[in-house]
Amino acid sequence: MASTAAASAREILTGLHEIMAKRGSAQSKLDRVVDLIAEAMGSDVCSIYLLRDNYLELFATHGLRKEAVHVTRLRMGEGLVGTIAGEGRILNLGEAAQHPSFAYRPETGEERFHSFAGVPIVRLESPIGVLAVQNADPRGYEDVEIEALQTVAMVLSEMIAGARLVDGARRSRLRSAGPLRLSGLKLVAGMAKGEAVFHEPRIVVEHTVAEDIEAERDRVYSAFRKMREQIDNMAKEAEFGTTGEHQEILETYRMFAYDEGWSRRINSAIDSGLTAEAAIERVQQRTRARMQEIDDPLLKERMHDLEDLSNRLLRIVSGRMGTAAQTGLTRDAVLIARNLGPAELLEYDRRRLKAVLLEEGSLTSHMTIVARAIGVPVIGRLHDIRHSVEDGETILVDGDNGSVIIRPNRQLLLGFEQRMALSQRRRAEFAAIRNLPARTRDGVKVSVMVNAGLAEDAAALPMTGADGIGLFRTEFQFLVSATLPGRERQQRLYTKVLEFARERPVVFRTVDIGGDKALPYLTDEAEEQAENPAMGWRALRLSLDRSTLMRAQARALIEASGGKVLRVMFPMVSEPWEYEEARGIFEEQVDWARKAHRKLPARIEFGVMIEVPSLAEMLDQLLPRVDFISIGTNDLTQFLFAADRSDPRLAQRYDWLSPAILRFLKRVLDSARAAGVPARICGEMAGRPLEAMALIGIGAENFSITPAGVGPVKAMVRSLDAAAVRARLDQLLARPPKDMRKALTDWARKHSVTIG
Ligand code: PEP
Ligand code: MG
Repeated sequence: MASTAAASAREILTGLHEIMAKRGSAQSKLDRVVDLIAEAMGSDVCSIYLLRDNYLELFATHGLRKEAVHVTRLRMGEGLVGTIAGEGRILNLGEAAQHPSFAYRPETGEERFHSFAGVPIVRLESPIGVLAVQNADPRGYEDVEIEALQTVAMVLSEMIAGARLVDGARRSRLRSAGPLRLSGLKLVAGMAKGEAVFHEPRIVVEHTVAEDIEAERDRVYSAFRKMREQIDNMAKEAEFGTTGEHQEILETYRMFAYDEGWSRRINSAIDSGLTAEAAIERVQQRTRARMQEIDDPLLKERMHDLEDLSNRLLRIVSGRMGTAAQTGLTRDAVLIARNLGPAELLEYDRRRLKAVLLEEGSLTSHMTIVARAIGVPVIGRLHDIRHSVEDGETILVDGDNGSVIIRPNRQLLLGFEQRMALSQRRRAEFAAIRNLPARTRDGVKVSVMVNAGLAEDAAALPMTGADGIGLFRTEFQFLVSATLPGRERQQRLYTKVLEFARERPVVFRTVDIGGDKALPYLTDEAEEQAENPAMGWRALRLSLDRSTLMRAQARALIEASGGKVLRVMFPMVSEPWEYEEARGIFEEQVDWARKAHRKLPARIEFGVMIEVPSLAEMLDQLLPRVDFISIGTNDLTQFLFAADRSDPRLAQRYDWLSPAILRFLKRVLDSARAAGVPARICGEMAGRPLEAMALIGIGAENFSITPAGVGPVKAMVRSLDAAAVRARLDQLLARPPKDMRKALTDWARKHSVTIG
């Protein structure tokens, strides 16, 4: 029977195709299908069970008693058929009655049949039925026979979905598992409710039967070639980086992408008459079924990588490579991805995007910063989230605690909604103090500005209660553009930002491109191969080498600031000469503008970011030449600790409140004060109340933070005694405790400081 089955799989498909094409009721078609399969496979019985009202109902049979049709019903998980559907497993039994799940149904008359094989009928990764064969003689079915059954099940699923034989468009594989709570790393706080949307959507296979087998083979061949090319190029993409875990994933991808066994299995599925899409899906179903039987978590993880790759191959072969952003969000969405870049995030409709859940992600990556800036909660390090949820399922996101609930029941939903209302009330309380001055109890005035990067952020400035924009990341405009924004486009943005800000100051930072902010239209081959782009050709280094870019930006800023104060600062300065050179470019452009009789800025203030430790050693040379400095703790800490800011494994390893960081920052702040140069702190650190309290303790008085932090930081400032916290920090830094965070938290609690 084995060879007959293998040879006749194609014949069955041709037969199925004919049955599907002919007129007639769905029931009459199913009746003919079971006869066809039984005959072609030489089985005594062939039956189709379909899911209806949560039961697997016998819909058609060849060989069992006809009276049992639409009478025999099994629950998910009940009997052999329920086990196959419930667990997405294949059963192949020589003696069916000996299986622990065997449930005898007398109306079927099946006691005569000893051997049994069944495969799930799957649609969108969810079981919608079971296809089973039985024989009177006790025998095990061979692999090729099981594969033939799976091929037939694929085609049946298309026919069943088309005829709407099962209730609902689809059945959830996971829904039966009920609500699921997962915990990850809290990246951006906030609570949200929405439907799951995959950043890279899964493909629904529409056509299963091949018209031209050679053509299908060619399609899959060229898809494999393209996929291998993509994998080989991935190492250079920001999405994957080049370090540690990413490298491992990439290696596994490569291994699978070049695995001959995988492509051979897909090819032989095409030989049996399936389209390229259906063949890829069928092989994947088989792998998924095998995965059920594996206990080794490491191997399971690898299998997920294969699943990823299989989805990628499907997308390539079906020509649907776009992300969900390109399709557009139609409902409140919780976006799910392995990882996401800042530009990819900004492609989404901000009114519909309620939260982002990532398998990776880190606290100071630019995607996190952008999400924080636009107020979208993000949770990272949710292992396996992509395999724990299905498209369209409800997800409750608690970004305040770093947890999510998938498929909530009514009770969970109610509890969540209550907490969400509470969190909104807290936010409203913060909103109420947003416009009060940030003055400590002993009268120290703290300046609280915000970090921004888009025109919309500037428009929202009055609502934030902030004193101005302390860091305007001009590269965001570059990140959201498909092509390099020219001088005029830049100037239009800067003009708009200054208009929105009115009398409030705005500090424009020249572009910080490179590192995790790679631009497709502005890449450098050598940089693509760089081992560590964060330490590579980025920010000012790139701007000085490509001085045309910097000149254009200087002119745009100068012209946009006609009659106003222009505040400009340079990122990633490592040595004073870089600052001099950058300032020189601006001064040249001022000369040009003067000669061209353009309206000049009323004044220009020049500043630098202190984010590369080497510059902190040169402050005596630098400070007399600058109007202000701004300490970028995101980069500064990654370089101080030699810890990649976008590597999720290091996200919780180093604390911003470590004595090393606080001592370093205090030295910089003391030098600036002695030189009479204003110093601001603009990294993510300053947006957290406890961290901001410690910064005031080492003498900081100017912050530029994420807008959502303004309320909580002001509340902290207004409850704080600056002299007392400074005295405490002096003690703690002289003799650092083992756990600085705990020591500071205890002190804050004891002194009733509002740290949230
Ligand atoms: C920083 O490095 O702290 C900073 C504010 O700049 P960015 O996060 O844009 O690198
Ligand atoms: Mg930086």
